[in-house]
Amino acid sequence: MRDGRPGLAEYTTLRLGGPARHVVEATTESEIGQIIRDVGASRRNLLILAGGSNVVIGDAGFDGTALLIRTTGLTARRVGADVDVTVQAGEPWDVVVERSVAEGWSGLECLSGIPGCTGATPIQNVGAYGQEVAELITAVRVLDRVTGEIATRTVAECRLGYRSSVFKGSDRWIVLAVTFRLAVSPLSTPIRYADLAQALDVPIGERAEAAVVRDAVLRLRASKGMVLDEHDPDTYSAGSFFMNPVLDGDGFDVLSARTATIGSPPVWPGADGTVKTSAAWLIERAGFTKGHGNSHVSISTKHTLALTNRGDGTTKELLDLAREVRDGVFNRFGVTLRPEVVLVNCEL
Ligand SMILES: Cc1cc2nc3c(=O)[nH]c(=O)nc-3n(C[C@H](O)[C@H](O)[C@H](O)COP(=O)(O)OP(=O)(O)OC[C@H]3O[C@@H](n4cnc5c(N)ncnc54)[C@H](O)[C@@H]3O)c2cc1C
Repeated sequence: MRDGRPGLAEYTTLRLGGPARHVVEATTESEIGQIIRDVGASRRNLLILAGGSNVVIGDAGFDGTALLIRTTGLTARRVGADVDVTVQAGEPWDVVVERSVAEGWSGLECLSGIPGCTGATPIQNVGAYGQEVAELITAVRVLDRVTGEIATRTVAECRLGYRSSVFKGSDRWIVLAVTFRLAVSPLSTPIRYADLAQALDVPIGERAEAAVVRDAVLRLRASKGMVLDEHDPDTYSAGSFFMNPVLDGDGFDVLSARTATIGSPPVWPGADGTVKTSAAWLIERAGFTKGHGNSHVSISTKHTLALTNRGDGTTKELLDLAREVRDGVFNRFGVTLRPEVVLVNCEL
């Protein structure tokens, strides 16, 4: 267990965020339990941080204890043709993906290169290149801060949706471990994402060697500044700042009317009559090109959805930029962009 008072910027990939009253690190489940008891009943006093790659923390910091989840470990249990892999929350996610590919456990390869820790993957149902952890998670072990009990939640109970879950936006549960069911196979799951299929030179729906898929995903992600690189400020982000908007019929009619003269945005119809469209397309067509911003904060020069700190920015400046983009898209297309990132002691 470690205790100190540094600024939280050093724990976030955006490199932004003022100080916390305390920063403590837990490397075992019992340390997590002890810290929770020490912090006491007031849930507002505690900020859970793992890789800090999906948070925007206010310049004033956090008036409480920031708990860094640093528990590690992985166990595997063969179940017929599959393997159940249970991973402790603080285990770096890409280490798990790399290990799974090396072991011949198929399923996680398209999620290569996503920053952060395993315990955060169910929080927003991490996804990329046509795959989401919702398809692979079978159980999530959680500590309930209200009852103090440790329980195992089934995947249905986690209510994993598009960048959402029962955990996101709630500070009630601490994820202790996540179990994934993976196939024992050197081949990937069927490739669903067009850019990836093209990079692999395979038709959509085809499988490829999982190790080859991982390499292709890492290359594609790096070309978009989506793999952390301390020498590249395009990666000083929290990934996609905004979610792709999901529109009902009326919302989609408004968008269609306003895009009639410039061509149709990409759309992904949902089962419930909703339509998901591309936030990046809307942002670009609203006039915000890659690199838009200033020497402190800007849209990444490689990826329209990533808002970046160029090194000397503040959270206020980043949020000003986010507001400019959000309002510009709304004025042009009538669509409200919602943040994918978790805002801590700040608002948009
Ligand atoms: C360059 C870059 C690329 C990215 N690409 C993707 C992508 O392709 N797909 C994608 O989905 N995301 C992406 N992200 C976002 C981010 O990496 C993921 O959401 C990741 O899972 C966050 O993990 P973390 O450990 O950094 O979480 P943190 O940022 O530390 O925390 C995020 C939220 O989860 C909570 N939390 C974290 N751990 C726990 C726990 N054990 N128990 C309870 N609550 C917890 C925190 O309190 C906070 O609310 C990207 C981010 C960056 C910087």
